[in-house]
Amino acid sequence: MRITVINEAGFCFGVKRATQLAFKTAAHKTGRVFTLGSLIHNPQQVEKLEQAWVEVISCLEQVTDGTLIVRSHGLHPKILKQAKQQGLKIVDATCPFVKKVQRDAANLRKEGYQVVIIGDMDHPEVQSIKGSSGNDLVVLGDKTEIKQLTLSKKLGIVAQTTQSLENFSQIVAQLAKQASEIKIYNTICEATAIRQKATLQLARIVDAMVVVGGRNSANTNRLVKLCRKINKPTYLVETADEIDSKWIEGKKEIGVSAGASTPEWIISQVMQQLKAFN
Ligand code: SF4
Repeated sequence: MRITVINEAGFCFGVKRATQLAFKTAAHKTGRVFTLGSLIHNPQQVEKLEQAWVEVISCLEQVTDGTLIVRSHGLHPKILKQAKQQGLKIVDATCPFVKKVQRDAANLRKEGYQVVIIGDMDHPEVQSIKGSSGNDLVVLGDKTEIKQLTLSKKLGIVAQTTQSLENFSQIVAQLAKQASEIKIYNTICEATAIRQKATLQLARIVDAMVVVGGRNSANTNRLVKLCRKINKPTYLVETADEIDSKWIEGKKEIGVSAGASTPEWIISQVMQQLKAFN
C-alpha cells in the first residue's frame, strides 16, 4: 500500500509564527504568560505550550497582571482595549493576513458599505473582524441564510481566511443578484486555498483519506468535508493512536492531509503508524 501526504501538510505561516512567539515569550517571561482561549486549534500542541507555561484563560477577569499573547485569529478591539486598561503586557501574534481582513472590513465600513463577513459566526477570527465592521454587519455561513435577512443595497464583502472558495463564491453570486453596488475582497488565505486544492487533488486518486488535526479546527474540518463531498472514505484523527487498521485493509493507496494548525510531529507519528499497519 502506498501512503501519500500532501506537501503542504502542517503549520501555516501564521500558526508557526504564533507558536514560536508563545514559546519565546514563555522562555523569557518575568510573570504569567497566557492566551485568551487556546492559542491554536490543536489540543495536543496546546498541551505542549501549557507544559512550557503558556496558560489558557477563558476571560480577562482571571488575571491581574502578566503577558497576554494575542492568538493568530486576532482579538475583538474591545477586549484588547480592556486588556491594556488592566495593565497587561501584550504580545500580538495576530496573523498579518487576519489583520488585513480587519483593515479591509474597516475600510469598507468607512466607505459606507454594509459589511458582510462570509464565515462562521462563533469563530474567534470572525469575532475579531466584527470589531472593525460596524453594528449593521452581517455574518453569513451559508447562501441559504441570505433570504432571512434584509440587507443594504450597498454591500462590502470579506471572508474568514479559512473559508472554502466554493462557499465564498456561492454566497457572493447570490448577494450580487440583489445588491446595486458590491465591493468584494477575497480574503481567503492562500495557505488555506492551497491545502484545500492539494487535498482534493489527492483525494480524487487515492482509496481513502486520513486528515490529521484538531476536532475544533475549522480548516481541518473543512478538509474532511471536501473529501467526503466527492464520496471518498475520510477519517479525521487528532493523534496516531486513533487510526484503525481496518480503515486501510485492502486499500492500494492512502492519502494524508492535515490542517494548518497541525504540528509536524503529529503528522509524522500518523505516517509511522500507517506504515506500521502496512
Ligand atoms: S491560515 Fe492563513 S490567515 Fe490563518 S493563520 Fe494561517 S497564514 Fe494566517
